[in-house]
Amino acid sequence: MVASNKRQAKALSSEDDDFNLISMSSDETDQSDMSDYARSNKGKGKGKGKANGGGGKVKVTQDDLYTHRAFCEKCSREPADDILYRANNRKNRKKKKRRNEEDDVMISEEELANMLEGWLECEKCVVSSHWGCLTPAQKKDVLTDIREREGSPAEGEKRRRSVAVDESATFICAKCVLNPDCFVCHKDKIKEKNPKPESKEDAEGGKANDVNRSEKMDVDDPENRKPQEEEVEVEAEEEETIPKFRCLPCKQSVHYEHLDVPHSLGQDPSLPEVAFHYQHETDGGDAWICHQCREWIWTVDIVIAWRPSPANAVEPELEEDEKANWKDALPREYLVKWTGRGFRHVSWVPHPWLQVLSRQKLQNFLEKGPNLDLITDETLAAKGDEMAQPTISNLTAEDDQISGRKSGHALEHGSNAQDGKKEWKGIGPGPEKDAESSLPIEWNTIDRVLDVMLLPPRQTAKPAMKRGKRIMSNSLSASASDSGHATPIRNGDLSPADEMRRQYGLKDGQKPPEEMQLDIDIFEEKTGRDLDENDVDEIAGLVTWCFVKWDDLQYDQSTWDTPPPTNSPLYPAFKRALARYLRSRKVVIPVLTPAQARVRDEGAEGLYVPPENQPDCIVGGQLMPFQMQGFQWLLYKHFRRESCILADDMGLGKTIQIASVLGYLGSSKYKIYPCLVVVPNSTITNWVREFEKWVPHMRVVPYYGEAASRKVIRQYELYHKGMQNKAEGLNAHVVLTTYDMITGNEFRVFRNIPRWEVLCVDEGQRLKSDNSVIFNRLKTLNSVHRILLTGTPLNNNLRELFNLLNFLDPATFKELEDLEARFENLNESLVSELHEMIKPYILRRIKADVLKLPPKIEIIVPISLTPIQKQVYKSVFEKNSEVIQAILRARKKRMRLGQ
Ligand SMILES: [Zn+2]
Ligand SMILES: [Zn+2]
Ligand SMILES: [Zn+2]
Ligand SMILES: [Zn+2]
Repeated sequence: MVASNKRQAKALSSEDDDFNLISMSSDETDQSDMSDYARSNKGKGKGKGKANGGGGKVKVTQDDLYTHRAFCEKCSREPADDILYRANNRKNRKKKKRRNEEDDVMISEEELANMLEGWLECEKCVVSSHWGCLTPAQKKDVLTDIREREGSPAEGEKRRRSVAVDESATFICAKCVLNPDCFVCHKDKIKEKNPKPESKEDAEGGKANDVNRSEKMDVDDPENRKPQEEEVEVEAEEEETIPKFRCLPCKQSVHYEHLDVPHSLGQDPSLPEVAFHYQHETDGGDAWICHQCREWIWTVDIVIAWRPSPANAVEPELEEDEKANWKDALPREYLVKWTGRGFRHVSWVPHPWLQVLSRQKLQNFLEKGPNLDLITDETLAAKGDEMAQPTISNLTAEDDQISGRKSGHALEHGSNAQDGKKEWKGIGPGPEKDAESSLPIEWNTIDRVLDVMLLPPRQTAKPAMKRGKRIMSNSLSASASDSGHATPIRNGDLSPADEMRRQYGLKDGQKPPEEMQLDIDIFEEKTGRDLDENDVDEIAGLVTWCFVKWDDLQYDQSTWDTPPPTNSPLYPAFKRALARYLRSRKVVIPVLTPAQARVRDEGAEGLYVPPENQPDCIVGGQLMPFQMQGFQWLLYKHFRRESCILADDMGLGKTIQIASVLGYLGSSKYKIYPCLVVVPNSTITNWVREFEKWVPHMRVVPYYGEAASRKVIRQYELYHKGMQNKAEGLNAHVVLTTYDMITGNEFRVFRNIPRWEVLCVDEGQRLKSDNSVIFNRLKTLNSVHRILLTGTPLNNNLRELFNLLNFLDPATFKELEDLEARFENLNESLVSELHEMIKPYILRRIKADVLKLPPKIEIIVPISLTPIQKQVYKSVFEKNSEVIQAILRARKKRMRLGQ
């Protein structure tokens, strides 16, 4: 880098020959010290980049475009002569020693200033540096050029060896040597026909005491100079080169023209105003931070893919045996997901940005490929009960084999070169221009709303607002005016929250300020209202910030976000989820007193009125007759407190039957809940969906996943706010969980519930072995009615069967050894005895019995000819054998090529 720095600096100086690569000046008006070529670069700006004064109104001028940083890029200290100046001012009072951190020696400020020496400002960007903080190579370059300008030293004078404390000069900083291009336009200079800004003279006029500035001085020395005309012309061109802004955190440079115009500057601010904004601490952010870094305040979670940037960039090919190096300067940008931000807000970030701010992730991505370590519904289902951590690329490979899968998951990584695609030979995995759009839409779709923050009602709003009455958007907008913001332009399409966001200049997904976030409970308190799902339209317009679980992703991927824009296709899902959230806040799961429990159990049978038709609360579709029978049988069993086994064949809708039964029990007719359903990992999300589809009035909470997911579920889903681990705080009619959770150390979550009205276990054969932990743990739960589900016949092992029956009816099937001994040698009478014994407990239907498959029907579908067929047909008619032959030849060739 040092070498190339030198090379580039040299190239520049020779190329531009006489133009003033190095310019010198002195802070004091000590003209005698000045070289003939000296020209104060300070004159262009604020004099060593000093800010435009502190506080109060500042007049922003053209000069602000030339401001350099007032602190050194390397040591962050101010210019040495400023240090000296202050030290001198203090002298009379007392001598102060300061500690030098580097060598732990006390040195005076004078000594420090003399070590740091002169001040250098980059010609291409806003970077400044002390002479003493330059690398030896940089020093050498600077000296070479100064000596060239100054000519041989006068007699008796020594050759120049440094830039002195009171001098300043220009240089080209290391960053500008390495990558001088703007991160927006990817160019170094802006090609513009712009004439000299007219305000320039005025601006300079204001710098009356900047005596050192003299553009014409150098022409007085003809010896080392080219003809005057050329000189002036080059000089003038150089004059217009505005140093590029360089961001402190990401180290990238950008033209001021290409920085985002901050909202606070209003419409069409001047370029110097934009420059001034980014150079100083403002409401919009800290000083010297580019718009990207102001926006990207999160850490990188996942590097998903990359693409060339600019789009037509060509990468250098890797040499044989050359290894990918994250340090390489590559013309790329990367699609990243941020920690705590959903896939809805992934960003393309430039290579240099990632290099500086997320080195490790970049390195891993380039060396190991993309790593989307997400557990999705599909991976759950694919992996069964083993909670593996598959990556999206694995998924893709599977998807390719199983045709007809969701195309949304087809994230094709160049590394696993797809058919027909040229294998990527460059650094890391291959490019993916469309990575963003190939992310599954589910990951952007709100599945559940877990918490919401609302726009506060106007302080003066009457608290006793009538139920169901809409809060007028007028009153809400008024609160904006109250807080000193401009009167909004009326826009009927904007919700109050949207309008407020617009006024604050908030982007989609940007966290709103505190004053826009009112907890929904406090909102209710303040307005004296009691919100429910009927208020969803109104509340949807007031949500400023919400915590959501995304479809197909686990709870630990839940994020805070703004609702999707009202015109977005993602909006309806948000509203549905919000309605469910509002409903869930009203869920009350009563904890029965012993007396109440006794009354319920004793009168249970009398409560049962067999529903003849499908009840209204079961809405997912029409239950088939055998499903209706199953539903009735299960209800009958429930009210008789007879535990049972539903052993229907696979595919006959056991899930639907259970959902119907629990939904009916949970309907306003009975209000019998809570229920616990234990299922395999791979099917839990399917269970959730079936419940939502068939009995949406039921609040169903799945409790599963990794520890981080379960934490979110406990905090936001399983219990009402602030009621964690309390039975009366349970916020679920039905809790769905997995075997892992029963055997794991959070079993107390289920134990804490004093009474489960129904305990249902899917794939009940897992309970066959009586020494299984699941079996023993489930037996300790106080469950009123137990249902086992199994899709496989129970004929393998009698002991297993007796274990199941013991789980269902411990009183009857108590002495398992005795039973086993009695049925050890099965004969015909014993078999029928056994059948009689288990018959009341089991309902089993097989497919062939209940599903009458329709007979085969032949359907004739008229189709039109394809263009090539038409051509053949026509040719035959015209007896044009030549064309037919040609078509056949081409076809043969294609087949040979395997296409
Ligand atoms: Zn320094
Ligand atoms: Zn620079
Ligand atoms: Zn640019
Ligand atoms: Zn930046």
